[in-house]
Amino acid sequence: MTDTPGIVITGGSGRMGQMLIKTVLASDKCRLVGVVDRAGHDWIGQDIGTAMGGQPIGVTVTDDALEAFAKAQAVIDFTSPAATVGFAELAAQARAVHVIGTTGLTDDDLAAIKAAARHAVVVRAGNMSLGVNLLVKLTQKVAAALDEDFDIEVIEAHHHHKVDAPSGTALMLGEAAAEGRGVNLNDVRDSGRDGITGARKRGDIGFTAIRGGDIVGEHDVMFAAPGERIVLRHLATDRAIFARGALKAALWGQDKGPGEYDMMDVLGL
Ligand code: NAD
Repeated sequence: MTDTPGIVITGGSGRMGQMLIKTVLASDKCRLVGVVDRAGHDWIGQDIGTAMGGQPIGVTVTDDALEAFAKAQAVIDFTSPAATVGFAELAAQARAVHVIGTTGLTDDDLAAIKAAARHAVVVRAGNMSLGVNLLVKLTQKVAAALDEDFDIEVIEAHHHHKVDAPSGTALMLGEAAAEGRGVNLNDVRDSGRDGITGARKRGDIGFTAIRGGDIVGEHDVMFAAPGERIVLRHLATDRAIFARGALKAALWGQDKGPGEYDMMDVLGL
């Protein structure tokens, strides 16, 4: 199996990093050839299998990204913006596909990543779940097919620790619905109804946020007309969905030319 792409996971000790390592090890379409973490982390120098509480697997955690990337056909990176910008340059030097799940990137960070993508394949998405990306596309298509007789409502539910509402994914869905209708979301957005709100305005896109317990993330897009309703729904129950999407992107990128891509490209949407 040495002809399958070699994958390096950065931030291997993180929540997503550990999930990515398990996902790569469970796949017969690729090999784990390296794990990188930040200098000074306890896991540097340890076998990753042992560090994660299992049997050794012969891959040692390193803080030398350049050396690790030289052996890789793809780098899957869910770390921090500062780390990701540095990794983008190193992955481009190594001509490895760079899959970026890191969020919170600034415009300057994005410009640096764009520069790296002149020499190598970069796949970046704020939500790597295949299902959510498909839902975004479906929402846009359904909104384009239906007129304003159909009221659009985005309903999301998350765990009780979440501090922002509506969720970033709910806003992505609202943007997709607005794009399908050919309107600007800011002109039709209706969030946070409470009290005597008056009747619903035709053409508005409404948002409702539910918060409770340990809900990982649920999103409904409802198109409600007199006499009928269409509901598009995505339920996330496990962060493994982000890891599976990232691995799919790493494999998809193997035969692509340099440039910046997203999950819509990976899914062929
Ligand atoms: P985490 O804090 O659990 O893990 C971050 C990891 O990055 C840690 O192992 C840390 O040591 C490592 N790291 C930090 N700086 C580093 C450096 N300079 N060099 C090497 N490693 C470094 O965080 P998490 O929950 O795993 O999330 C990581 C990122 O992924 C966040 O930006 C999060 O928002 C994003 N995320 C994206 C998606 C998606 O679908 N795109 C899904 C989940 C999380």
